Amino acid sequence: MPIQLQNNVTLLPFNTFGMNVQARTMIDVHDIEEVQEALDFAKHDQQEIFVLGGGSNILFTQAVDKIVIHNCIPGIAIIAETDDHVFVKAGSGVRWHELVEFCIHRNLQGVENLALIPGNAGAAPMQNIGAYGVELQQVFESLTAVEISSGNEVVFKKEDCKFGYRESVFKHIYKHRFIITSIILKLNKQPQFNISYGAIQEVLEASKVEKLSPEIIANAVIQIRRSKLPDPNVIGNAGSFFKNPVVPIDKFESLKATYPTISGYQQMDGNIKLAAGWLIEHSGPDDQVSWKGYRNGDAGCHAKQALVLVNHGQATGIEILSLSEQIQSSVLQKFGVVLEREVNIY
Ligand code: FAD
Ligand code: NAP
Repeated sequence: MPIQLQNNVTLLPFNTFGMNVQARTMIDVHDIEEVQEALDFAKHDQQEIFVLGGGSNILFTQAVDKIVIHNCIPGIAIIAETDDHVFVKAGSGVRWHELVEFCIHRNLQGVENLALIPGNAGAAPMQNIGAYGVELQQVFESLTAVEISSGNEVVFKKEDCKFGYRESVFKHIYKHRFIITSIILKLNKQPQFNISYGAIQEVLEASKVEKLSPEIIANAVIQIRRSKLPDPNVIGNAGSFFKNPVVPIDKFESLKATYPTISGYQQMDGNIKLAAGWLIEHSGPDDQVSWKGYRNGDAGCHAKQALVLVNHGQATGIEILSLSEQIQSSVLQKFGVVLEREVNIY
């Protein structure tokens, strides 16, 4: 079937920040052929494209005067198995949490800490999604993508993706050059659970769990996330707005001397990862001590997690962006630490 074009579409239902911006044209793509057809159309019409997944890591500050290629490629399947591992392939339009459920219901271990992260499987490699001490790269095998300039299919193995903390090659040298169409994960049959985060331990202790399983850990993660994070269906947000900054140990020690409650976690290279949420919570606009719970019009900082900026209803992307810049400069002024954005801005 030929691809279907929709013109002058509102992106309101397609981004979790709840920004009511228009897209000039939107094309839902359901397989690689449709991706290639959409690219041919854009090339023929001399229009630029914008790739959209679940819209949970993007802040729209303006209308999208491009062709939005909306990723709807379905399908989850086990494609190979060894004594120790099971390889699961997912279309890039599959909801990430659906893929997590597929794995935990088969007792496959590896993604349970990543339960309930919004968005699509195809966007997961973009920032090497991570939560509760686990990152996508730990289970990632490979992905297939379509090169935007040629329409050719290209396979990226894990080492090609250059994963880092909320980073991959697709945010840098390959930015806007590929459309990811499927991913393959390598899950463990023999569990190697990570319950290092205090919140998970607390839930497991409270429920007196005797034997861990991927499902039990996923349920603990879901319980914590539901209690703490704003549901985008209720209040617009895109999760953590900033990355946790990493600083040299001497910088951390001098901050700790002045602010004894500051949170820091040692990294493999000896540097210290600071909790950006703590820095935001302990700085504030001129007359206030904290950004946590701050609100200006409909743009705000979440009352339970200061790292999450929220749209209380009618905030514009520009207002959210402006609030984020005020937070960045107040954290820089107070702590001498630069906060880098995690959310993509359009
Ligand atoms: P989108 O927002 O649609 O796109 C994000 C970027 O990727 C855009 O630049 C887009 O152009 C590009 N892109 C999307 N799909 C493709 C594709 N197939 N090919 C090429 N480019 C593509 N993130 C975490 O890492 N950990 C968390 O714990 C976490 N928790 C969150 C909690 C909440 C409540 C929310 C709202 C967000 C959270 N996030 C978290 C952020 C977000 O869910 C993830 O980054 C997710 O992977 C984004 O997926 P998406 O499909 O919504 O991407
Ligand atoms: P939290 O548990 O309150 O912890 C605050 C910060 O401290 C986190 O950012 C986390 O870093 C770090 N941290 C906590 N315990 C740690 C440990 N044992 N070892 C190393 N670092 C530790 O954080 P939260 O806001 O409730 O989020 C819980 C998890 O979900 C985190 O992993 C967070 O990244 C993830 N999350 C991500 C998003 C997003 O949009 N990216 C949104 C919501 C939640 P890390 O962030 O590096 O883990």
